[in-house]
Amino acid sequence: MSGEPQADCLFCRIVAREIPATVVRETETTLAFRDINPQAPTHVLVVPKAHYPHAAALADADPALAGTLLAEAGRVAEEEKVAESAGGAGYRLIFNTGAGAGQTVFHAHVHVLGGGDGLREKL
Ligand code: C5P
Repeated sequence: MSGEPQADCLFCRIVAREIPATVVRETETTLAFRDINPQAPTHVLVVPKAHYPHAAALADADPALAGTLLAEAGRVAEEEKVAESAGGAGYRLIFNTGAGAGQTVFHAHVHVLGGGDGLREKL
């Protein structure tokens, strides 16, 4: 069934607390944790607890949950003080979708990146 946990999915295993992660926020339906290989001073991943292979599949199957994911990304940015409203310089949200675009974990997630210079690369 759509959204069911996958035994071989790294982020499903983090959600199940089978693999450790530094969790910064949790709701009933989402989990936010620090990226193990940070690309910016603040680099947090926000994932739905339900399994979808990428953000578009999540949005298709459960638009409300996709909205919650975005709202949670904003709350992380506030708490991490990278949002302008929290005194920061702003932040980027990135959804890599497909291996050719750099997606390596096929469980929907948004990268919250902030706190450094040079965050803006190609786009
Ligand atoms: O968008 P992409 O699929 O490349 O992002 C996956 C991210 O998951 C990477 O930035 C990687 O550093 C992170 N990761 C993690 N903890 C793990 C394995 C991967 O934070 N145990």
